[in-house]
Amino acid sequence: MAAAALHTLLEIQALDTRADQLTRRRVTLPERAELATVEARRSRLAVDRAATGARVHELERTQKRLEDEVSMLEDKATSTDRQLYSGTVTSPRELQALQDEAASLRRRVGAAEDQILVVMEDLEPLVAEAGAQAAAGGAADEQAASLRAAVAAEEGSIDEELRRVAASRAELLADVPPALVSQYERIRERAGGVGIARLDGHRCTGCHLELPNREVDELRRAPAEQVVLHEECGRILVRD
Ligand SMILES: [Zn+2]
Repeated sequence: MAAAALHTLLEIQALDTRADQLTRRRVTLPERAELATVEARRSRLAVDRAATGARVHELERTQKRLEDEVSMLEDKATSTDRQLYSGTVTSPRELQALQDEAASLRRRVGAAEDQILVVMEDLEPLVAEAGAQAAAGGAADEQAASLRAAVAAEEGSIDEELRRVAASRAELLADVPPALVSQYERIRERAGGVGIARLDGHRCTGCHLELPNREVDELRRAPAEQVVLHEECGRILVRD
């Protein structure tokens, strides 16, 4: 195997590191975390809006029932009045009864109207609350949509770069013996993504430890095309 293959493998390592960074960035996009927060807020708002809507609906039904009651009582009072002044009833006792009946109906109208006022007072803040919740919901919807678009755009550009990295890697791979690639990948997997590193003076650039003189001498004496490992971290070391 030519020593050049080891240098090519270093380039592959650089691409793999880049791909790892891109993949990590893809899953940790800040917009994605923000989107999760906004989605949670949207769910909470939906629950609140449903609860407020149900209360508004119930009060409106009560108001409608009371208004129907008022209108029914007023109809009755009107027809009682008509009877009272029609001249067809002449008995004082019957006239008194009709007068009492009309007065009682008007009292009930008054009571129902008072209840309507109470319901309307209760409704007013609830309707305002529903409006505010709808506005907040709309704003959260817009925010979620814009974050979703931002995430998609970021993912698109990351994926584009990942494709370029993969294409470069595939090209370089042709110049490295498959057995060496497998060895590199095995080491890379168990060594936190870095399978090959340069020996920089006495320092392994994979684990950043200094190598003892004895080990450096041995590595430098080994034939250039021989694959040597850093004893300490197990990574392939490339000597310049
Ligand atoms: Zn090392």
